[in-house]
Amino acid sequence: MTKVIDVELRGIMKKFQNNVVVQDFNLQVEQGEFVSFLGPSGCGKTTTLNMIAGFLDPDGGDLLIKGQRMNGVPPYKRELGMVFQTYSLFPHMTVAENIAYGLKLRKVGKAEMQERVKRVLELVKLPNVADRYPKQLSGGQRQRIAIARALVIEPSLLLLDEPLSNLDAKLREELRDELKRLHQEIGVTTIFVTHDQEEALSLSDRIVVLNHGFVEQIGTPLEIYNQPASEFVHTFIGKTNRMEGEVSGVEGERLTLRTKEGMTIHAGKQERPFAHGQKVVVFVRPEKILLTDTAGPGINQVEGRLQLASFLGSYTECEVRAGGHTLSVKVQMSDRSAEREPGTQVFCQWNPEDVLVMPAERG
Ligand code: ATP
Repeated sequence: MTKVIDVELRGIMKKFQNNVVVQDFNLQVEQGEFVSFLGPSGCGKTTTLNMIAGFLDPDGGDLLIKGQRMNGVPPYKRELGMVFQTYSLFPHMTVAENIAYGLKLRKVGKAEMQERVKRVLELVKLPNVADRYPKQLSGGQRQRIAIARALVIEPSLLLLDEPLSNLDAKLREELRDELKRLHQEIGVTTIFVTHDQEEALSLSDRIVVLNHGFVEQIGTPLEIYNQPASEFVHTFIGKTNRMEGEVSGVEGERLTLRTKEGMTIHAGKQERPFAHGQKVVVFVRPEKILLTDTAGPGINQVEGRLQLASFLGSYTECEVRAGGHTLSVKVQMSDRSAEREPGTQVFCQWNPEDVLVMPAERG
């Protein structure tokens, strides 16, 4: 089947005064895809979304929606649904009036309008709030209504700018699942801006990781997590143990590494080739390290002492001093090591396949 491209960014650039904030942004979003823009504050996520929406015009490159060049085309001619971080509902209108607003502008007849408002309220699981005013709703409910309002016009593209970030943790998670369900149900092409890696990982078909206005990597959540293109991507996407060192042995696809602190680490197949003596940075995720009381058979094994154990509900985050390093280790609650006292002798083990090696930055 041929791919239908709904949105295309070709070498998009944006500057404010002389400050370039988005540079050489290339992306194709397929019909029905859920794509997230992920990156730290100020990396250019919202600016890019606003160019797709038509609130800002690019200073370079081409923006295409459904194959049509959109540079200079105003937002109302783009048939987009948009949801912002802050609830942008009209306070003096009821929920039904808020949702119907876009349909009124499009001169949809009254009977059809009522039907569509009803349907979209059912879709966001709030069928009984049509006559309430926004102030009579909770934060989560308001954001659901904002989503309903964006969806009622049956947009060709849904743009979401950090729609969950004003909600408390539990509600955030609830609405995140709700968004996923909605996307599965209606399949509208969606671009979602967030600085929260969990949101991006759990919702997206693909993630665009941005840093200082540059695209660092575009990939599926698994690719971004397991095959990061850069140190920035790896460290931004989750907690990790970082150790500097050099390659002390190369044997087929296997590497032996020696950290500056003198620890030997074996690594499995890497994306890039490495040479003997090359300066590298070595990463192991905390959840990939196994904590045991006695030495095991693993080839990456180091004796250490538990320094700190923070109970976090479903898992315990441990700090272990081992081999000259302070290692962060995530211990599942099913593991009785979660009950160990600080000062206890432990062994850390991990598989060579779970070791990520990157060339050290020059200089
Ligand atoms: P956040 O998560 O904090 O919203 P962001 O990744 O969405 O960050 P943008 O809002 O796109 O980042 O901003 C990118 C850069 O452009 C920032 O350095 C910001 O200060 C700058 N910027 C954004 N809008 C303007 C403007 N209207 N005039 C000048 N500079 C701007």
